[in-house]
Amino acid sequence: MRALSFAALSLALVSLPASPLPAGSPGHAHQDAAPKPDPHKIEKLADNVFCIFGEGGNIGLIVTAHNAILIDDQFAPLVPGLLKIVKSVTDKPIKYLINTHHHGDHVGGNLALEKQVQVIVAHTNVRQRMELSQAKLESAKRGGLPEITFGDADPKVKSILAINLDGAEIHLAHFGPGHTDGDVLVGMPSAHVMHMGDIFFNGLTPYIDLGSGGSLAGMIANLDRVLSFLPEDSKVIPGHGPVGGKKDVARFRDFLNAVQKHIEANPAKTGKELDETFDHKAWADFHDLAPFLSWDKFFDIAAGRAPKK
Ligand SMILES: [Zn+2]
Repeated sequence: MRALSFAALSLALVSLPASPLPAGSPGHAHQDAAPKPDPHKIEKLADNVFCIFGEGGNIGLIVTAHNAILIDDQFAPLVPGLLKIVKSVTDKPIKYLINTHHHGDHVGGNLALEKQVQVIVAHTNVRQRMELSQAKLESAKRGGLPEITFGDADPKVKSILAINLDGAEIHLAHFGPGHTDGDVLVGMPSAHVMHMGDIFFNGLTPYIDLGSGGSLAGMIANLDRVLSFLPEDSKVIPGHGPVGGKKDVARFRDFLNAVQKHIEANPAKTGKELDETFDHKAWADFHDLAPFLSWDKFFDIAAGRAPKK
């Protein structure tokens, strides 16, 4: 059962508010005007750790003594601009490209980057899902698959992979299915920075990919797990929205808990009815992803039902 086709999702996610740019700024205006201004912006989070904002999922950049690590890569057409902004902070080669999950707005640049990064790393299920979605493509459009994978194909199995690079330690963790069945959280403990992929949407209603093993309960379980060890002064890169801290992750977890309680108290209500009776005033700091994911569709998905098209 798929809530939305992969292609529809990839297309729809183009318009997700990935960056904290205000509406009307160059990145959002004149969609059909050419040439489009480069949407990339970079924010320094710690010594040698950065977040890059563009038009897909947020990107992480870690620079070590002799190498760089990229976390996610948005869409293929944005790769030249992405590499340009990476070059603005480092000339070091990109040794690892880590994918937080398989969605097109996070791995869309894999094929274009394949020859420029040494190895692509992801959860086992990410490679499997990418292979499946590429099976019907012509051979020139195939590739960019993760070469190092970790984690059990059974999404319930939790696993951790440690990368030691030039004295820096980076942890990749899969805490069971949440947004999908291949989510990887990327933490750099020494810098108190974590990229949470789409387990964390900062101030936004999240998309949950029911067709790829995601669930509201899984999202909450992942967030609880992260909050149990995340240092207070951490900086957290969300899949979408501005960089946040531990309190923003806790606020997002509390929001999802409120959504879950509301659904449990009203099992017969449709997404539209759940939206109409939700205490929006208490959660006025959360915005929907309309037109891709309006509140009623969000409630349908959160309740485990594919929304009506
Ligand atoms: Zn996603």
